Amino acid sequence: MNIIDIINKKRKKEELSYDELKYAFLGYLNKEIADYQMSSLLMAICLNGLTERETFDLCDIFIKSGKTFDLSSIEGVKVDKHSTGGVGDKTTLVLVPLVASLGLIFPKISGRGLGHTGGTIDKLESIKGFNVALSEEELFEELKSIGCAITSQTEDLAPLDKVIYALRDVTGTVESIELIAVSIMSKKIALGADKILIDIKVGKGALIKNLKDAKKLSNLMIKIGKKYQKEVRTIISDMNNPLGNNIGNSLEVLEALSVLEGKVSNNFSKLCIELATTLVSMGKGISESLAKKEVINAIKNKAAYNKFLELVSFQGGDITSLKVSQNVEKIYSNKTGTIKSIDALKMGELAMKLGAGRKNKEDKIDYTVGIILEKQVRDRVNKGDVLCTLYTKNDEMIQENILSYYKIV
Ligand code: URA
Repeated sequence: MNIIDIINKKRKKEELSYDELKYAFLGYLNKEIADYQMSSLLMAICLNGLTERETFDLCDIFIKSGKTFDLSSIEGVKVDKHSTGGVGDKTTLVLVPLVASLGLIFPKISGRGLGHTGGTIDKLESIKGFNVALSEEELFEELKSIGCAITSQTEDLAPLDKVIYALRDVTGTVESIELIAVSIMSKKIALGADKILIDIKVGKGALIKNLKDAKKLSNLMIKIGKKYQKEVRTIISDMNNPLGNNIGNSLEVLEALSVLEGKVSNNFSKLCIELATTLVSMGKGISESLAKKEVINAIKNKAAYNKFLELVSFQGGDITSLKVSQNVEKIYSNKTGTIKSIDALKMGELAMKLGAGRKNKEDKIDYTVGIILEKQVRDRVNKGDVLCTLYTKNDEMIQENILSYYKIV
């Protein structure tokens, strides 16, 4: 077999066999195929797509590139969720303790972020002492004792995804629907939960920009799940406006805590309740209306909040250590009217410039910086009202035209 023939075949929109895909992708993992050759193949896939059969085969190759977990020694139904990511998305921090407080087992493997704000793991690292790198034994021990855990991706779980994602990130090939489906589902199947919920974000601040692609991705992931006897459900949610009020690592943990305590009601808390309801309904085999009652009750009776504290302390974190920058700059409205939209992408980029996210893998995150949106979409504002507060590294003034991110009419 020859990598150039394989690249040419895909360039000519021909279908690749299992063996050809395996030769190219495992060859890349084993460093027998060069970066530039894999980049070329990824671009051909991005432009010409993969057939359903090729997508299933590639997912299988990704899963088998590493180890798969066997969760059967842990009693109970295991659930998992994944979000395709967005600005202000901290749903994992709420969902894991909320769903686990209702008796389901929730092992969550999360990532760090590149661009915009940090990933779940970066957010948790804003809690001093929090161990984000559990060994397999530690993960199983925590699941058996408290029913949930959040840890970073281990080296041996779908290692092909790790190397291919890193290459896609720098070669303009992230946006292929088939590659996204393979990337997400290989990790989910390798971890081995019984019920999987995928939150597909659509809009300006998201990877998926339109509903047609979101539906295509949803269908593909459900079909991949079926192949492995996993129940997969998807929710398509809006990412034109930032999710919730807080953007930035410590700030997002604080907002997650407020939602768990039932202290805020916004688009983020509503999404958390919707996702938790679906997961509880899937996991317990009960109706959505019954599941929703259980979810709301777990917030009211503090079971969800207490489960989060339990998780933090089990993983060595000190929740009282959360720090927010003392350098604050307020942005005032120059108009009276109603907020029609807040540009999620621009806000994400601003958070990154403040130091809350990474441009390059080696960049250091400042956990204390970020943005609080004091007003949300559909709020009425008067000229002179504070629209948002910036938490900055030092007291230098931010040069961006932040008012242009708001549509007020
Ligand atoms: N999230 C993933 O894990 N993989 C992708 O390819 C896109 C989003």
